[in-house]
Amino acid sequence: MGIILKGGTLVLEDSVIVGDIKINNELITEIGEKIVPLNDDTVIDVTGKQVLPGVIDAHVHYKMALGKVYTVDNFETGSRAALCGGVTTVIDYAEPIEGLSLLESLDYRVKEAKGHNFVDFSVHMTISGDTPYNLEDIKSFRNYGVNSLKLYTTYDFIMGYDMIFDVLRKAKEAGMVVTIHAEDNEIVATAVNDLKTQAKTGVEYHGVSRPSKAEYFAVERIIEMCEKEDLSAHIVHVSSGLTGELISNAKARGVKISAETCPHYLMLNDEVYKRSDAQLYVMQPPLRNERERIKLMDELLKGTFDFVTTDHCAYSPHQKFISKTFYETNGGIPGTETLLPIIYSQTVSAGKMDLLAMSKLLATNPAKKFGLYPKKGVLKVGSYGDVVVIDPDLEVVLSNEMMHTAADYTTFTGIKLKGYPIMTILRGKIAYRDGKFLMGDPLGNFISC
Ligand SMILES: [Zn+2]
Repeated sequence: MGIILKGGTLVLEDSVIVGDIKINNELITEIGEKIVPLNDDTVIDVTGKQVLPGVIDAHVHYKMALGKVYTVDNFETGSRAALCGGVTTVIDYAEPIEGLSLLESLDYRVKEAKGHNFVDFSVHMTISGDTPYNLEDIKSFRNYGVNSLKLYTTYDFIMGYDMIFDVLRKAKEAGMVVTIHAEDNEIVATAVNDLKTQAKTGVEYHGVSRPSKAEYFAVERIIEMCEKEDLSAHIVHVSSGLTGELISNAKARGVKISAETCPHYLMLNDEVYKRSDAQLYVMQPPLRNERERIKLMDELLKGTFDFVTTDHCAYSPHQKFISKTFYETNGGIPGTETLLPIIYSQTVSAGKMDLLAMSKLLATNPAKKFGLYPKKGVLKVGSYGDVVVIDPDLEVVLSNEMMHTAADYTTFTGIKLKGYPIMTILRGKIAYRDGKFLMGDPLGNFISC
């Protein structure tokens, strides 16, 4: 009893064809010009629609604790929103838990998500500056089925550059990917203190408090380390086109650096921090000026970025408006559900990127980086039946009413899009169709690398 999608434009690994695709027992079993259905197959006509591998959002925070506060999207609501936007796999974060070993902390997070996630998932393992770790720990994550670490150059998780260098070396030996939140802590701390001394504490100073030179400087240090000892690193949520250019130049020299950016840095600029509802736009790193935003989009179109993620970290307006200061406002915005629609509209619909390149950006490349390929990220016989169907002619104006996140707002309200997902299939199950969420139970699996 399979599902056959008939007559769509299929975005395969290295080609785009018009044809049929069949999913049976969770897996893609057939791709061809014409598939003859068996008696009990469900046939869905998708003529004129585009059929892509389910999107992988490789950077989300569901049910994240910040002190005593949790993000408003837990696993259920976050993953529901993901599926409604064509995302079939997310990569969340495991953080060190006091009293548990690193491996136990990782296992705790995976078990916490299991049975609550509607979407398939993996996790990145966070190591902070005060976490004792050794090579064996790092190898143990890989054996568990996770191939990536997350480091921070700032916040409570802060890790100094020397320790980052050491982790990069050990990770190379263990065959692990190192992902890094790069904002130089000294530059940020100086900017924050300067503003506080001048009593400039309002949210309008959020952008100034974490200047883009902090990102640039930290990324420059990481590139130097990689270049010096042939190490590799992945920079998360690049916010400025200037950092994008730095990464692009390093790549051209052969440095093993990869990077992701996010829709909000591509679509919005720091003018929003002057608004009365500026808190809704607070995230780290902050939005940048228009010149840096345009440059970031240019870098994306040039191929600088390996993929696009959302850093989905949703707080309700109530949670956002609790504070009026830039340093106490909960940082993070919802985004998973709008990842594909925004990127599709800005690249493919705008005639600036072909379907195949966009599909690599949103599915194949993150799958390859984080060890999920070829189970995920590609339409191929034997891969999971994870599919998103896009109506290229559907025009929408984004609004909160359309969203399935519990955040109760979107920073993209009013943005006009051409092309929108009309169906998401997760391992052969129709999870979303024509605006409706159709999954009964949260049956998302942990996908090991
Ligand atoms: Zn994040």
